[in-house]
Amino acid sequence: MKPKIITIDGPAGAGKTTVSKLLSKKLQCVYVDTGALYRGVAFEIQRQNINWKNDTELEDFLKALDLNFVMEKDAFILMSSGRNITDFIRTPEISMLASSSSARPQVRSALLDIQRNIAKTKNAIFEGRDMGTVVFPDAAVKFFLFADLTIRATRRFDEMPDETKDIHKVQKEIQIRDHNDSQRRSAPLKSAKDAIEINASFLTIEQVVDKMLKIIEKA
Ligand code: C5P
Repeated sequence: MKPKIITIDGPAGAGKTTVSKLLSKKLQCVYVDTGALYRGVAFEIQRQNINWKNDTELEDFLKALDLNFVMEKDAFILMSSGRNITDFIRTPEISMLASSSSARPQVRSALLDIQRNIAKTKNAIFEGRDMGTVVFPDAAVKFFLFADLTIRATRRFDEMPDETKDIHKVQKEIQIRDHNDSQRRSAPLKSAKDAIEINASFLTIEQVVDKMLKIIEKA
């Protein structure tokens, strides 16, 4: 039987990762945070000091890139040329660089196979920006999860351990990423025509998960 794929797309800070994690436990399947791949690309661009706006330099870089997910217990860790880089990809700088470099079509096509190969063998929840629209147009169930900007910024801010954090900066960064992600030409952030939209502004994570479970059960 073909593995069952569920997609969750939406803007930064809407709760996609937390929801996917909980949902994957309930459904006993894996979840794949595709943003980690774009962050992995950004991490390597920064580490290798790549001029990603230059086509030739970007294409040579992508040819040599060796990114992949490795299953550890029930979660994926991100490897780059055999090195675990999972702990280095969550900085605000990497978030912004991932958002701008992910607009390059070469970057997006380089990551397509990694995502689709996982889906060949496993029931999975894929979360990102273009899961339901581009990567898995035939997914069994598609969700688009969103929330008000101020609410997303406050949630992100609360999760940050950094003592020097600044709510206005967090909100501005999310706003810039939303703009980059939804305005780019290649696979922009948008709700698939057949996606079920959930506004998480006034729902708890548990309420979102319950809502999704009910929809999945009926599908
Ligand atoms: O989801 P996360 O915030 O970790 O994603 C980081 C960045 O990667 C996003 O701002 C977006 O630009 C890019 N991304 C993407 N397509 C995806 C997942 C993430 O373009 N499927």
